[in-house]
Amino acid sequence: MTRRRFLGTAATLGAGAVAVPAVASPTVHPPGWSGTARVEKIATTCEMCFWRCGVLASVEGGKVVRVEGNPDHPQNQGRLCARGNAGTGLLHDPDRLKTPLLRVGERGEGRFKPVSWDEALDFLAGRLVKLRDEHGPESVAFFPHGNGARFFATLMRAYGTPNSAEPSFAQCRGPREVGYSLTFGQGLGSPEPVDLEEARLVVLIGSHLGENVFTSQITAFATGLARGAKLIAVDPRFSLAASKADWWLPIRPGTDIALLLAWMNVLIAEDLCDKEYLKTYASGFDRLANHVREFTPEWAEAITEIPAAKIRETARAMGKAKPAVAVHPGRHVTWYGDDTQRARAMAILTALLGSWGRKGGIFLPTPIPRGSFDLPDFPEPKRGRADGAGKRFPLAIEELGVTNGLIDATLSGDPYPIKAWIVYGQNMLESIPQPARTVEAIGKLDLMVVVDVLPVEQIKYADLVLPEATYLERYDPPTIVESAKRPFIAVRSPACEPLYESKPGWWIAKELAKRLKLEAFFPWDTPEQHLEKILKPTGFGARELLNRGAVAFPGKPYLEDRAPVDRTFDTASGKIELYSEALAKIGADPLPRYTPPVEPPKGFFRLIYGRAPVHSFARSQNNEALDALMSENEVWLATSVARDWGVTEGQRIVLENVEGVKSSPVRVKVTEGIRSDCAYLVHGFGQQSRALRRAFGRGASDNSLMSRVSVDPLTGGTGMRVNFVRAARA
Ligand code: SF4
Repeated sequence: MTRRRFLGTAATLGAGAVAVPAVASPTVHPPGWSGTARVEKIATTCEMCFWRCGVLASVEGGKVVRVEGNPDHPQNQGRLCARGNAGTGLLHDPDRLKTPLLRVGERGEGRFKPVSWDEALDFLAGRLVKLRDEHGPESVAFFPHGNGARFFATLMRAYGTPNSAEPSFAQCRGPREVGYSLTFGQGLGSPEPVDLEEARLVVLIGSHLGENVFTSQITAFATGLARGAKLIAVDPRFSLAASKADWWLPIRPGTDIALLLAWMNVLIAEDLCDKEYLKTYASGFDRLANHVREFTPEWAEAITEIPAAKIRETARAMGKAKPAVAVHPGRHVTWYGDDTQRARAMAILTALLGSWGRKGGIFLPTPIPRGSFDLPDFPEPKRGRADGAGKRFPLAIEELGVTNGLIDATLSGDPYPIKAWIVYGQNMLESIPQPARTVEAIGKLDLMVVVDVLPVEQIKYADLVLPEATYLERYDPPTIVESAKRPFIAVRSPACEPLYESKPGWWIAKELAKRLKLEAFFPWDTPEQHLEKILKPTGFGARELLNRGAVAFPGKPYLEDRAPVDRTFDTASGKIELYSEALAKIGADPLPRYTPPVEPPKGFFRLIYGRAPVHSFARSQNNEALDALMSENEVWLATSVARDWGVTEGQRIVLENVEGVKSSPVRVKVTEGIRSDCAYLVHGFGQQSRALRRAFGRGASDNSLMSRVSVDPLTGGTGMRVNFVRAARA
């Protein structure tokens, strides 16, 4: 796609997307949230990914027949991506879990009998009471994902376990949140507040905007480029974004910190930093300047394989465009195990350019007040967390937890035995690397429960499976997005009754709470009452939010919008910390330092991975409409590598990693658009659940080839780009 055509698609958001014409606001939501036959359009929130776009669901005779973008929604203003448009494909997926299932065969055989909800919840409550009595409530670990899991999270706290962890931390953005918090006193949150539309220069380091499609982000990116923003794309692969770039820097994988240090070296040596900004807001500049003096572009060239002249040229472009330089912090950042330090380096670069809190850089969140319930005190766990957050991984954020830390604890029994897992809305065998370890850990459990919409692979290891309603059939707690220029509250509300025997998460949690005598933690009878309480301080009522789908508030996204007294930073010094006292205190590098990545053994190539615009993680491959757009992935190989391997375009091969794990067959794409030391796969394919009749066995699973990780000692994040593959015999 040419840059001109890409810019022309600003309104269409990537393959398969459509621009939605403005429509009138949705009609009134029905009382009691049933009897939807009287309603034409229900305003709700998309959950085909986590970006929280507003949708209007058209309902005819109680059936959702179509979704379209909500034109009044601040997040997407009527636009949906291809996945958002395919939402009814999830609702009507014939492979959906339809009824609670109780295991009848051996664990792993995948043999179940259908049971009623009463039977399922009585079984689960009974087992949870027994586990609490015999092993303590901490022996139960919770692995949530998504908004629907939040009620269940309350239940787990009330039950008494501190052990909850989601892959959005240790397999995704955890090191980023920590690295930016160490520097600016606050993380970035989600969606990440990058001011792409106002930027004069965008810097992408391994971020695949355009292949990774989120409505407002891709619109802002295309708008910025259309207004003349320059683009630097650092990527071993000629990604879609790289194809639009003014500078494509095909970096040697794992050497990004060296490039970042060299950029800092040039900015400081050539006096290109925002000096006034640094003087006002930052501390530690002299120590940083001393630190980076030796990291010249020539030093970095030998490491990164990017010519020194290009490093200087790009640093100068940043100096010229400052402060309107959007250094995108990335989202999935768990690559090499030094990821918190790489995030720190990106944060420091942002600070040197004066871009934090400035137009065209990173904008600031605006707090929104929210109400809360007067709940009983949550029990204080007798034993601390088992995942290592706060101890083995001193900077891990406890509210998000370390999934792999809980898997380690389950395998070792250290610091104490973990006896049960409740996995909610995620496929651990595709979202967490080293899947063989995950299966081994499941083998140690007394109880494995899965709550999901689809029969993903891990359900074959479950003792109990609970079918959750899809996002078009359920209420979820309101989503409060402060990291937007116009912050907003949005709600997910049911457009139709749950199909089959599926149930919404709030109902499952409340019913289980009754059986565990914990109903005091759910002091509301209907979702609307819950919503009313949360909204109280905002001045909006539940009915208004349900009718509109979202309400926006005025934002103060830039430092200049704020009174001088509010321009401080939540660090120990109240300043932007270029030199981190917090890291020095725990014996870590207070300034980022380059550490060489593990190199592939002879004959192997580094496995890198990314996204496709029409799929979300491993969640959408069974969707009929999205399958029609992309039904399998392909492995990208450099022309020279394909020649050496003796394979040709379109041929199916099997990939094998260093440990001998083999993928399912995958088609070859031969290209000049990838370095000759890498192989690339789109994530989420090669699924092994036969119950997913469309997705089963299509393409290769990158996660199945991730037998190794390099763990970030600060956060526990699992660096995954340390796996190597070669072609093998099928
Ligand atoms: S980006 Fe697409 S899939 Fe994600 S919430 Fe928005 S419309 Fe839905």
